[in-house]
Amino acid sequence: MSLLAVENISVRYGQLTALRKASIKVDEGETLFVTGPNGAGKSTLLKAIAGVVTPREGFIQFAGQHIAGRAPEDIARLGFSMVPEGREVFGGLTIEENLRLGTGMRADKDQVAKDLEQVYAVFPILKDRKDQQAGVLSGGQQQMLVIGRALMAGPRLIAIDEPSLGLAPKVIDDVYATLIRLRDSRGLTLLIVEQSATRASLTGGRMVLMRSGEVALEGDARELVKGEALRQAYFGYG
Ligand code: ATP
Repeated sequence: MSLLAVENISVRYGQLTALRKASIKVDEGETLFVTGPNGAGKSTLLKAIAGVVTPREGFIQFAGQHIAGRAPEDIARLGFSMVPEGREVFGGLTIEENLRLGTGMRADKDQVAKDLEQVYAVFPILKDRKDQQAGVLSGGQQQMLVIGRALMAGPRLIAIDEPSLGLAPKVIDDVYATLIRLRDSRGLTLLIVEQSATRASLTGGRMVLMRSGEVALEGDARELVKGEALRQAYFGYG
């Protein structure tokens, strides 16, 4: 059984249909990229899984449980962590305070201390600067902070909305290298919204292409980028 299975979900915002019977599956330890043009419904898909928006129809299973319509904090407790688009850090709080916000409901101080050490092991720059205000970090460092904050909840799956947005290519390489290390060393499952299909193919994994709220194409990221079908589906011709 897949760790995450989304089946035929539809989401509307008023009159606008953002998702039409969209389905995806993600197995434990794999990487699934979601790509597609602006407005295709990629963020809405993540929000529906996270419980931020409620599908009008369809099923979502995560870690063996039906989660569609459940509260975001219940879904998070099952091991789902989301990094929304926009890298929101609390600029007036220190880096460590920002990380501690990611522990959610967990009161176990020893566990929190262990998780902090693990995040610092993954992102040493955050440890070096832990007492500084988060507002002074560069864009790439802020991306690491929000990913670190999502890791503080000890997730099985981390969903990230456009991690490369606005970052320099070298920094994007670093962020992806870290994600792949986490996947391979801890079996973390990755669900990543990424506008750049090329970037997805460089990283490797499966990819779905969304268009107009639907999953239009699915396959191995490297194979899809080599072929013509991706371009056709992306731009809607053919
Ligand atoms: P982008 O890459 O631009 O973020 P996306 O593929 O993530 O696009 P969504 O953000 O999921 O797409 O948006 C899908 C559609 O739903 C778009 O037409 C968008 O304008 C609309 N939409 C998104 N959020 C809302 C909202 N809160 N209220 C109304 N319409 C919305």
